[in-house]
Order: sequence, then structure tokens, then C-alpha cells
Amino acid sequence: MSKQQERWVIKAGSSLVAGKDDGINKSFIKDLVLQVQQLLNEGIQVVIVSSGAVAKGMHELDLTERPDSLNLLQAAAAIGQLGLIEGYKTEFSNFEIKTAQVLISHDDIANRTRYLNARNSLLTLLELGVVPIINENDSVSIEEISFGDNDTLAGAIVGLVDADRFVMLTDEEGVFSQDPKKYKNAKLLKQINLDDQSIEIDQITEGSAGVLGRGGMKTKIKAARLSLDAGAQTWVANGNDPQVLTNVLKGQEVGTFFEGSRDKLQSRKTWIASLGSPKGQLIIDDGAAKAISEEGSSLLPVGITALTGEFKKGDLVACHSQSNEVARGFSNFNASELDQIIGLKSEEINTKLGYASAEEVIHRDNLVLS
Ligand code: GLU
Repeated sequence: MSKQQERWVIKAGSSLVAGKDDGINKSFIKDLVLQVQQLLNEGIQVVIVSSGAVAKGMHELDLTERPDSLNLLQAAAAIGQLGLIEGYKTEFSNFEIKTAQVLISHDDIANRTRYLNARNSLLTLLELGVVPIINENDSVSIEEISFGDNDTLAGAIVGLVDADRFVMLTDEEGVFSQDPKKYKNAKLLKQINLDDQSIEIDQITEGSAGVLGRGGMKTKIKAARLSLDAGAQTWVANGNDPQVLTNVLKGQEVGTFFEGSRDKLQSRKTWIASLGSPKGQLIIDDGAAKAISEEGSSLLPVGITALTGEFKKGDLVACHSQSNEVARGFSNFNASELDQIIGLKSEEINTKLGYASAEEVIHRDNLVLS
């Protein structure tokens, strides 16, 4: 992988973000932003996955209890999302840090073309130094609003942006052996290996929904699984501690740390391998092969001499040079578009196709060397 900067995904659930005064917990957001600003100063790229739209919307609608009606919840989310983002924007602007709102649903991650679109736009935001603030697109999708308070969405985002670290912030110290609100003897589990068969995941998750926001432990464990599979270091930690993220940065013991056995490159290779055989083959010249494999560059149309196969935008394609496979990655163009632009300079692509498109055929972030 050619990524230079470390990348973190930080997830904040409704139990932290929602507040009594105007539906938003401004002091939590303030502390979070202060820490994120310190991470950015260290050259770390940060994505925030934040809930809180439903809670903010309920406040705006003067609803004191969470509605049972799904449609009303969706309406609350649509209303509250504006204030939620405004809350983050105001705090970040104190440090002259730009933010962006990105609403994503699980379908965007499952669908190959939309996956690539979402990934490319998030990576562009990060390259621009912007902090994307992601929420589930609750008004068109119901997964997290129904089950998870964004836990599994955040876990999936870790893979989407190739994050190195994933911190799920909650209102508890971490994951306990049992529900700490019910059982006095519940112990904080400082380290969890999800592959360890002896660990009583059922006991940990049993009855604990509601303890840590609406998602509870079940969805946090599921999110941790997704994150570990993507090769990211993963924590569940107390978001009420105003130093929680900076302590992670300093390498201190924080909350619950999930142990994983894979590194990022391994995970990515396994993931790419799991997508099956490439849908197309691109023949690239020696210059492009060298640029990809030695300089970590993207694949540009100018370096492609021929192509075979029928593939769509977002499909996996293999890059060959002198009969050797050099790399695999996700194409920003379908086969017939690519046929028109091979050999061209990047700045000639839009004129040739007649519409705005990517500058590279496979972005370096979407390439894995074979
Ligand atoms: N995405 C939702 C939000 O931001 C999830 C939280 C919930 O369902 O209460 O409000």
C-alpha cells in the first residue's frame, strides 16, 4: 500500500453526542474536536462516524420519548442531521478545520460501483485535509436506526477507507465480562481476542443492548470483527474521558483493545482475493509497471496499451506487463470507456468522454501489488 499518512475512524454514538440542552452534547463535541485537532497536527487523517441525528431531531420536534414509528424516526433523523453537523462544524471552525457531511448506507458499501464512489470521495476529502463526518443515511435506509446506532456502519467504514485504527467511543469504560449495570462483579476486559474460543461472547453481549447506546455490545463486537478483518487496531473506550484519543495516540492502555492477527496489507490481499477472478486485464507499459510497483503511483490511461474483458466501473481488473501480473485493483472506468481513453493524458479524459470523471484508471489507494 502506498498510503503515507495514518488514518483513524472514530465512532461516537448517540449516548455521547445527544444532550439535554438543545439536543446535542456540545461539551462532548468540543472535547472530541480538541483531540481530533491534536491528531491532525500529528499528520493523522481522521474520519468521524457520528450518531445523534435522531436525538437532535426528537428535540426539535419536542418529542420526549423515542418514537416507535420508523417513519417518524427517519423524519427525526432528517431534521436533526442539520443541527448535528452544525455542532461539529462550529467547533472545528474554531481551529480552521474544514468538515464535510457524508451520509452513507450499507448498500453503498455492498454495491461495487457505489463502494468505489464513496471510497474515492472520502479519500479525496482526507487528502484535502477535511474531516468527513459520516452518519447513516437514515431517511432512506433503516439498518442502523433499527438495530445498531451506527456501530456496524462504522466497522464497515474502517475497511472502506483502509483505516489503521478504529476507536468506538461509548459511555462506559469499555467492554465488560457482563452487563456492568446489572452485575456488580462485571470486569472490564482490557483485551479481547475474538478468535479465542474460550471467550464468552454471548455472556458479554447478553442483555447489554442499551448499556452503551442503542447498539449495545453485540453490534460493537460485530463492528470490531469487521475492523479487525480490515487489519485495523480496534478499541472500545470511554468517550467521556477528554483524553481518550490522545491516550490511544500515546500508546497508553485504554478501554478494551481487540487483538487481531492480520496486518493491513494481508487483510487487503485476502479481501481482494475473496472478490474472485478479475473481470478484465489491462496491458501496461514498462514505465507504468515501474511507477506502480516502485513509486506507489496510480495507474493512468497513458500507461495502458491494451485491454481485454467486459468490466464495469468498480470491478476488479488485473494489470499485466510483459506477461507478468503486476497488480490488481478497482477500475474507475468500464471497459468501453477505457477503450476510448487508453494512451491519453489524464487531462484529455473528460474531453474525450464528454463528462467529468476520474483522472486515474486505478487510484493508487485501490491497487494491490501482485
Ligand atoms: N444514525 C442514527 C442517528 O444519527 C442512529 C441513532 C439512533 O437510531 O438513535 O441518530
